[in-house]
Amino acid sequence: MTAQRIDGNALSRQLRTSVAERVSALKTRGITPGLAVVLVGDNPASQVYVRNKVKACEDTGMHSVLEKYETAMTEAELLARIEALNNDPTIHGILVQLPLPAHMDAHMVIETISPAKDVDGFHVASAGALMVGQPGFWPCTPYGCMKMLESIGYNLRGKHAVVIGRSNIVGKPMALMLLQQNATVTICHSATPDLKAMTLQADVIVAAVGKRNVLTADMVKPGAVVLDVGMNRNDEGKLCGDVDFDGVSQVASYITPVPGGVGPMTITMLMVNTLESAERCLSAT
Ligand code: NAP
Repeated sequence: MTAQRIDGNALSRQLRTSVAERVSALKTRGITPGLAVVLVGDNPASQVYVRNKVKACEDTGMHSVLEKYETAMTEAELLARIEALNNDPTIHGILVQLPLPAHMDAHMVIETISPAKDVDGFHVASAGALMVGQPGFWPCTPYGCMKMLESIGYNLRGKHAVVIGRSNIVGKPMALMLLQQNATVTICHSATPDLKAMTLQADVIVAAVGKRNVLTADMVKPGAVVLDVGMNRNDEGKLCGDVDFDGVSQVASYITPVPGGVGPMTITMLMVNTLESAERCLSAT
C-alpha cells in the first residue's frame, strides 16, 4: 500500500480562503477581527513563528498587532500589557509566544489572558471547556489534526486512535477531541512499556513526541491513518517529523508529511479561532 498524503498546505489555503470570506462579511458589519501577538525576548524560532502568524492575519484581512519586548521585561509589566489587551475592543485574540524567559511563570501569564480571547486554547478555562464538551477555543495543533481527518471524510466512530505524547498543548487535547468524535482512545508516553503493541492496534495514530523515527513501518497496522505532529531536524539539518515517512507510507492509507502537513494547519486554526472570537463578539451584542 502506498499512503495518500494529506496536504496541509493545500487544506490550509482552502480554509484560509473561507476565513477571508468570513472576515469580509464581518467587516461589512463593522467588526475587523484582531489578533495581538506578544513576543518577549529574542528566540530565533519564536521570531519566525510570530512573523508567520502576523502574515497569516494580513493574508486573511484581519487586523494584527505585534508587540515585541526585551528579555528584561518584568512579569508584572507583561501581565499589565495582557490586561490592557483584554480590555482592547479591537483585539479578539491574544497570543503570547512561548517559551517565555525563565524569570516568567508561563502558567500565570496564560491564565491572565481573558478566556474569551484565548485563541491558542491554552488557558485552564479552555482546557476545561474541551474536557466537558462546552464551547471554547481548541488548541490549534490538535484542532488542525481534526480538520485533516475531516478533510478525508474519516469517521472516527468506533475506531481506535492512539496518541503518542501527552503534553497539555498537543497530546491531551488531541485525545479529548478524538474521544469527542467517538473514537476509543489510548494515550502513550515515555513510560508506556510497549509502544509498538499499542500502535499496532490503532486505526489512527497521532505522533506528538519530538523525536525522529518514534513510529516506524513495523509499528503500523496496514491501512491506518498516520498524523505526524513532530518537528525535528534530520542529520542533514532538514525539518522532519516523528514518523519514518518513507517506511510508514508503504503501510498506512493516509499520512501527513513534515514539512507541509500539520505545521501550516496550526496557524490556519489560529486564524479560525480569532475569527470565531470576533463572530462571538458580534452575536453577544
Ligand atoms: P512535549 O511537551 O515535549 O511532549 C512530548 C511527549 O512525548 C511527552 O508526553 C513525552 O512523554 C512523550 N514521549 C517522549 N519520548 C517518548 C517515547 N519514546 N515514546 C512515547 N512517548 C514519548 O512536546 P509537545 O509540545 O507536545 O510537542 C511534540 C512535538 O510536536 C514536538 O516535536 C513539537 O515541536 C511538535 N509540535 C509541532 C507543532 C506544529 O505546529 N506542527 C505544534 C506543537 C508542537 P512524558 O509525558 O512521559 O514525558
